[in-house]
Order: sequence, then C-alpha cells, then structure tokens
Amino acid sequence: MSVVVVGGGPAGATAAWHLARAGREVRVLERETEPRDRICGEFLSVEAQAHLAEIGLDPASFGAPAIERLRLVHDAQVAEAPLPFRAYGLTRRAMDEALLVRVAAAGATVERGVMVREIGGRQLATDAGEVAAETLVLASGKHDVRGAKRVSRGTVTDLIGFKSYFRLAEDQRAALAGHIEVMLFDGGYAGLQLVDGGKANLCLLVEQRRFARVGSWPPLLAMLTDGCRHLAERLAGATELLERPLTISGIPYGYRYRPHRNDDDRFYRVGDQCAVIPSFAGDGMAMAMHGGRAAAQAILRGEGARAYHAARHAEFARQVTLAQALYRLGRPGLLQPALVAAVARWPGLATRLASWTRVPG
Ligand SMILES: Cc1cc2nc3c(=O)[nH]c(=O)nc-3n(C[C@H](O)[C@H](O)[C@H](O)COP(=O)(O)OP(=O)(O)OC[C@H]3O[C@@H](n4cnc5c(N)ncnc54)[C@H](O)[C@@H]3O)c2cc1C
Repeated sequence: MSVVVVGGGPAGATAAWHLARAGREVRVLERETEPRDRICGEFLSVEAQAHLAEIGLDPASFGAPAIERLRLVHDAQVAEAPLPFRAYGLTRRAMDEALLVRVAAAGATVERGVMVREIGGRQLATDAGEVAAETLVLASGKHDVRGAKRVSRGTVTDLIGFKSYFRLAEDQRAALAGHIEVMLFDGGYAGLQLVDGGKANLCLLVEQRRFARVGSWPPLLAMLTDGCRHLAERLAGATELLERPLTISGIPYGYRYRPHRNDDDRFYRVGDQCAVIPSFAGDGMAMAMHGGRAAAQAILRGEGARAYHAARHAEFARQVTLAQALYRLGRPGLLQPALVAAVARWPGLATRLASWTRVPG
C-alpha cells in the first residue's frame, strides 16, 4: 500500500527512508524546490546522530564541529557544565538535503516544489493538483496545513524565533569552539554555537511584547548586546552572513498530539506535527526522527495511527513537560541570575537535566 509523506524535513525524511527501505511505495511532497537555510539552532544531539547514522549520514563528514560543553550565561555571568554526550553543529541546509538524497536513493519518489495547501481526510489539495493518499504521514513541521491544524490550547505561543549566521572574530570563534552557549535575557533566550562552514549560528526566542518595543532585527540585536556583555563580546568584530534573519512566530511549545476515538487510523502525524519541545532542549530533531521512524514501523507492521499517536503522547510526556517547566523557571528576568549561579555551583545538575529531556534512543 502506498504512502504519501507531506514535508521532507527530519521527520518526513526519516519516515520515508524507513518505508522505502522496506520496499513500500512512498511519495514525499516537499514545498521547497532547493536546499535552503532553516530556522533552527542546529544543535544535533546524540540521539539525532544515531538516527542519521542509521540512514548512513555522519555529521563529522560534513565538517560539523563537535560540542561537548554548555555555557549558561546571564549578562557577564557565565556557568559551565559538561554535556552528557558529544553533540555536533550541523546546518539544516546540509542535513535536510543529504536526507532527501538518501530518501530518493532508498527508492522513494521525492517531489520538490509541491506545496500542500489543504488536507481533507486523506485527500490533499496541492499546487500540482489533487492527491489521494492511502496512508498519510503529516510532517509539515513548524507549518500547519489548512484542514489539519494543531490545537495550540495550553501551549506557549507568544514567542518569536530568529536565526542568523555570523563570521566571528578569530579569538571569539576559538573561545566558542566546543561549546553551546545559552544566554538568558528578560523575555527570552539565545543560543550560540559553531556549525559547519566555520560560521556561528545565533538562534533566539523572544516574547512578542518585548519584540514589539523594538520592532525589527537590528534594534533587537542591539538591545540584546546592550543587556548581555557576553554576547556583545562574542559579536564584537563579527560579520552577519544573512541579509536578514529567518523568523517564525506562533510555535505551540509544549504541544503533544492527543489522539481521538474518531481519528482516521491511516493518518499519522510525525515531528513537530506530533509534539513540540522547547527549543533550548536541543531535542526537537531527535524527537522528529524518532517519531518518523516509529510511524514507519507502525505502518509496516499494520499498527493504526491511533495506537501510534497514543504511544507517542505517552512517550514524549516527560521530556516535553520537564522542558516546559525549565523554560518557565528560566523565563522571569529576576530568576535568571540565580539559575546561572545554581549551575555554576552544581554543574552536574545541568548535565542531569540535559539527560532527562532526551527522547529514548
Ligand atoms: C528557534 C528554534 C530553534 C531550534 N533549535 C533546535 C536545535 O538546536 N536542535 C534541535 O534538535 N531542534 C531544534 N529545534 C526544533 C527543530 O527545528 C524541529 O523540532 C524539527 O525541525 C522538526 O522537524 P520536522 O521534520 O517535524 O519539521 P521541519 O523541520 O519544520 O520540516 C518540515 C518540512 O516540511 C516542509 N513543508 C512544510 N509545509 C509544507 C506543505 N504545506 N507542503 C509541503 N511541504 C511542506 C518544509 O519545507 C520542511 O522541509 C528548534 C526550533 C526552533 C523554532
């Protein structure tokens, strides 16, 4: 029985690869015509690496730098802790494209430049005409499709995400090497790390009300460097590489798809369409690939979507709930210095918390 996968990001590509490898007929509909930058911190956890390894991809072969330590920062205050694993900084432009190449090589049909506009049951309205799916895997990630939108009740949706690349001054690049730096500021947080190509990824989330006060990226960046001496130091003498940053709003952090009795049993949600963990956990891609793999396995053994969704809802509960609680704890500006002081005093605590937000391997 053939499967249609909507979206060729980490979740959709992983589902498609496993299905195609098992001999299933798979069509991947991906709206982008060519590789492009994505809004993402590009922190690749050990679990995400394991999924890539299964598909035959090694981050180090792309020149992705290793990351082994966390720095938690508030203004000039810095605490450091070892990560519980070796992570990598791998650009999504490189990773997503390599995944789609592997998916096609496994025998799936990858249709680029096909935007799914609306979903009704398993009937898709696309730019290229109507598609009827026998089995449907929805992997459109951060973007909802009309007719199949996620319910955001009970989630945190008031954040705007920004991502840009910088060429850092040589001494700052050397100081950042091997670290993911998470900088807390009143109304949000930013992550800075090196990725392949020798550049630094600056990805941040800021409350809408806080962004409204400045209105655009240059004053936002100025506000952040004014309020965070560590970030100002890192960006001194740096060149911004994107003409304008990538942005996104309205992500439903804390969302987990809850299955209903009347759900179509051949309509599977994977990746951010199934669950959304706060970005600072650096676990979104691992969860996406884990879910993509699990959906493929469910389809192959004839397990319906309701059982698949119930299993994911239970499986992701701890990670998503803990990451949400940590996010809420770190959100008020007044608590942030105390949080950094706690990590400076007990670095093992940060390492432990980082392990507890991981998805099972
Ligand atoms: C600011 C921010 C920082 C993050 N940092 C990290 C991090 O450092 N590490 C980490 O592991 N996770 C991180 N995440 C989470 C991670 O990016 C996501 O969890 C992950 O990308 C989800 O994968 P996905 O395949 O579900 O969706 P996506 O990566 O969003 O991919 C969806 C795909 O579907 C395509 N598509 C969308 N709509 C349609 C349509 N209508 N028709 C056809 N195709 C469509 C898109 O073009 C895309 O290729 C971050 C998220 C944000 C917002």
